[in-house]
Amino acid sequence: MKYNPTIECSSCNNLCDRLELACPKCGNDLVTKLYHYCCFNENSLASLIRKSVWMSLPFEYNDPFEFLGKQNNGGEEKTSKIKIDYAKGKIGVYSLSEDPNNIIMWSHYSDRHKGFCIEYRRSKDNILGCSNYSKRAGRKINRFAWPVQYEKDVPPISDLPFEYYDSIPINALTKAEYWKHEKEWRVIFPEGGELIPFDAQVTSIMFGLRMPARNRGTIYRILGDTVAYQEACMVPNEYRLYFRKLSRTILINYP
Ligand SMILES: [Zn+2]
Repeated sequence: MKYNPTIECSSCNNLCDRLELACPKCGNDLVTKLYHYCCFNENSLASLIRKSVWMSLPFEYNDPFEFLGKQNNGGEEKTSKIKIDYAKGKIGVYSLSEDPNNIIMWSHYSDRHKGFCIEYRRSKDNILGCSNYSKRAGRKINRFAWPVQYEKDVPPISDLPFEYYDSIPINALTKAEYWKHEKEWRVIFPEGGELIPFDAQVTSIMFGLRMPARNRGTIYRILGDTVAYQEACMVPNEYRLYFRKLSRTILINYP
């Protein structure tokens, strides 16, 4: 099994590397925006104020199959380095999604639609799209943001010590097919359980369907007119959301 995430170009149907920003054949944009679903709380507000993100410890995640690697047949008991690091809490993960319009994720990660979703620009100049970030960050790792690949089978254990390579071990980036709807991307850091500076530009904030007006007002007062604001609404008679742009008049009138 290889880590080989692909995406079909929506314009010319060319099968592209999902890490690319544009289709090499026709130049059409591929994944240029990523979204983080969050609750409204002190941590999410601190990260907006400080332009930072909280690197979660993956063993706190809701899926006990995280970072799993398949043992060799009959081989001695072996655990990948990344699994050991992760068990020790040395790895931090910031999860994003390609899809801001998923009602399950709004329920799970945005406090049952009472939270919000942050839209980030993914470009070759920022942490989400840069492939030689080490020069700027003074780190050994070149790329931080990776799409998760969804598989039926557990990948073999990979022993890549990821600090020294341009790739993250496949075990950290593979999940069961059941999670496919999440279209997840992961920013993986060698430190977890802390806020790290994040240079990807916030382009929009999407308020959840049930997000109270006073909480919307708090976010507007933090970010002001530097980003666009939208609110999730129900599509009548369908199990679907749509997003409505919010005017300044509405925003300044939130309590
Ligand atoms: Zn194309």
